[in-house]
Amino acid sequence: MNLSSRTIAILISLLVAGVLTAYAHFGPTLAFREAFLAAGVTVAACFLLVYLSFEALIFREINSIYAGLEHIKRKEFKQMSNKFLFRPEPVKRVRDEILLMAERRQQELDELVRLQALRREFLADVSHELKTPLFAAQGFVHTILDDEDDDIDLATRRKFLSKAAASLDTLDALVQDLVTIAQLEKGVVRMRRQRFDLIALVREIFELLEQQAARRGTALELFPPNLPAELPVVADRNRIRQVLVNLIDNAIKYGRENGRVIVALGESGRTVRISVRDDGAGIAPEHQARIFERFYRIDKSRSRESGGSGLGLAISKHIVEAHKSSIKVKSTIGEGTTLEFKLNKPKSVG
Ligand code: ADP
Repeated sequence: MNLSSRTIAILISLLVAGVLTAYAHFGPTLAFREAFLAAGVTVAACFLLVYLSFEALIFREINSIYAGLEHIKRKEFKQMSNKFLFRPEPVKRVRDEILLMAERRQQELDELVRLQALRREFLADVSHELKTPLFAAQGFVHTILDDEDDDIDLATRRKFLSKAAASLDTLDALVQDLVTIAQLEKGVVRMRRQRFDLIALVREIFELLEQQAARRGTALELFPPNLPAELPVVADRNRIRQVLVNLIDNAIKYGRENGRVIVALGESGRTVRISVRDDGAGIAPEHQARIFERFYRIDKSRSRESGGSGLGLAISKHIVEAHKSSIKVKSTIGEGTTLEFKLNKPKSVG
């Protein structure tokens, strides 16, 4: 039977009134002894009624809190609410506190579990990535060292040594990328605010990647053809250079052979939009958000062959976000991919 505090109060009042009226009716002129007796009986009746009612109610409230704790155990926080008919303030406060604390602790726990899983995954990825070039270099060096009878001719030795050196270079690049990403994630890297010309930077990167593009027959183009003499932006030049080298390098690597890589620069309001477009195989929608994750590769074998660490886009995303911008991918299978971000123009311009 669920009685609210109001119903109980009414019942008590009716009972007290009943007792008093009965006395008044049966003994209108009460002698001292009877009056004393009447008071005693009334007090006893009231006490018993009030005491038992509150005992019952508090017992029920505590039961209700226990039921709530059961919900917390099962993480059903929402189901705890509004099960209380009788709500003495302290009981309600205790209940709300418990609920709030449980919800907070659960969130913390969920976050810790998530971080722990990420850490484990990261460690597994790092050791896997380090092992590949390390074992390759080790293999080549040991083959030469173990050749005590000089069976391997000089040219082959040189070839093995240069392969070992190439593996060590990959290892070096990977370690540098790991250091960079660790610093970016810790937030210890401050982005400089420098004014520089974006067009000159893109031309510089085209020169750097010229040979690599030529090997795949890729044409590197700036768009639109009628760009102004200079396009100043405010950002950290070295870091933006790193982002653009990575995006253009990817566009060459994953773009079509004998295709085109177009770097388009467009002014819009106080910002400059930079996009790097290729006409490669494209990225399926389910991979599009994931390519910015550390070590995420769509085609694992092919990407490793082409020497990527799988950290380039993760680093680029951090750098662009540290410039209070975001990096977006648009891609259509069979048509190509565009990666795009914005940078601020200097205040005095536009
Ligand atoms: P990687 O060193 O492997 O190139 P990135 O972080 O630069 O690492 O890129 C992550 C993955 O995203 C690549 O392995 C590739 O599968 C995919 N990717 C990046 N850019 C492109 C692109 N322009 N076209 C198709 N796939 C791309």
